[in-house]
Amino acid sequence: MNNKQSVALFDKAQHTIPGGVNSPVRAFKSVGGTPLFIKSAKGAYIIDEDDNEYVELINSWGPMILGHAHPVITSAVQEAVNNSLSFGAPTSKEIDIAELICDMVPSIEKVRMVNSGTEATMSAVRVARGYTGRNKMIKIEGCYHGHGDSFLIAAGSGAVTMGVPNSPGVTEGTAKDTLLAPYNDIEKIQQLVKENKNEIAALIIEPVPGNMGLVLPKDNYLQQLRDICTEEGIVLIFDEVMTGFRLAKGGAQEVFGVTPDMTTLGKIIGGGMPVGAYGGKKEIMDFVAPAGPVYQAGTLSGNPVAMAAGMNMLLHLNENPDVYTELAAKGEKLAKGIQSVLDKHNLPYKVTLLGSMICIFFTDQEVNNFADAQTTDTEKFGKFFHQMLANGVYLPPSQYESWFLSNALTEANLDHIIEAVDKSLEAIK
Ligand SMILES: *Cc1c(COP(=O)(O)O)cnc(C)c1O
Repeated sequence: MNNKQSVALFDKAQHTIPGGVNSPVRAFKSVGGTPLFIKSAKGAYIIDEDDNEYVELINSWGPMILGHAHPVITSAVQEAVNNSLSFGAPTSKEIDIAELICDMVPSIEKVRMVNSGTEATMSAVRVARGYTGRNKMIKIEGCYHGHGDSFLIAAGSGAVTMGVPNSPGVTEGTAKDTLLAPYNDIEKIQQLVKENKNEIAALIIEPVPGNMGLVLPKDNYLQQLRDICTEEGIVLIFDEVMTGFRLAKGGAQEVFGVTPDMTTLGKIIGGGMPVGAYGGKKEIMDFVAPAGPVYQAGTLSGNPVAMAAGMNMLLHLNENPDVYTELAAKGEKLAKGIQSVLDKHNLPYKVTLLGSMICIFFTDQEVNNFADAQTTDTEKFGKFFHQMLANGVYLPPSQYESWFLSNALTEANLDHIIEAVDKSLEAIK
């Protein structure tokens, strides 16, 4: 595989961009080697600056659920730009998309548009704090909620109640208000709630975490969280930036039949444009300025071009439920194919699947939380990743990421991916 252009560009980028990239995971740090610089993409394929073509399982980390440069989205954008790119004043399109989101997502009665998932989660927690008059927040280890200070807290030394910042620049003052619990562990939540009675404003969680690899909820975990939050007056926030409009048109909350108080959205909601949103119960959302006292604003929020892309994406998903059945069938085929390859190679690795999200954990343990996910052989994954590239498949460059299917993938593409997995596992034996 020739990657001369990518190597040269990455070299050049180092001089003016920290680490050569505008978002860290793109730098290939955890798998080694040089990131591919991308020139274009269409449907299920992405093409780099050296003109290598790959079948693609990142899909911009989710938004490209219909495949790249889908005419439903590109035509909306092309039409919108002719009317100018931004006004900083309200437009009727913002009402249309708000109504559609309220219609599609069970928990959302009112919604505010922002420009990224990070903004959505930061704002949602602020609103939950304003609404409850409480300061603390429960966060689940291994869940990612963007780069807001209060979310950059990791498990550190294990089952700690007080958070420890894992990024320099996050103050201890901020960290101490973030309480941590492992995913799928309801006892830990009960303990935290008991120890911090009437002090916890919000519990934020990826209902189906896709940022520690793909991990599924056990038993009644999500419903139990719902019950505890209701009982304790804690605002339950589902961060569906990744799962929203992907697992179903109403996200994980629709799939599992558990309705949070607030929901954060991003990724698919902008169809590839920078968009996020947060919404929830009317009585909570009416705390947001100018209706209420909690301040949150955005010069480019509700941007007309971004709204046009998002609107057409959501409309298409709302009107074509087949997309989800087709994606689920593709996910199933891929998971089955990969499992049979693993069996053939006598490898105990774990495949997790839900709808169009899929992941191979390079471990022999069931993965139910972040600690389990950390038993994976990340070095081996790095080798596997590069073999997959050599076999024409572009995966997320980290063991701790889900793969995202697009509906542009054909049966032949799926067969190609399964064959690539086979060859790649053989090569790294
Ligand atoms: C991607 C992601 C975010 C952050 O969104 P950005 O648009 O990158 O700021 C937040 N939460 C979850 C669950 C995500 O997957």
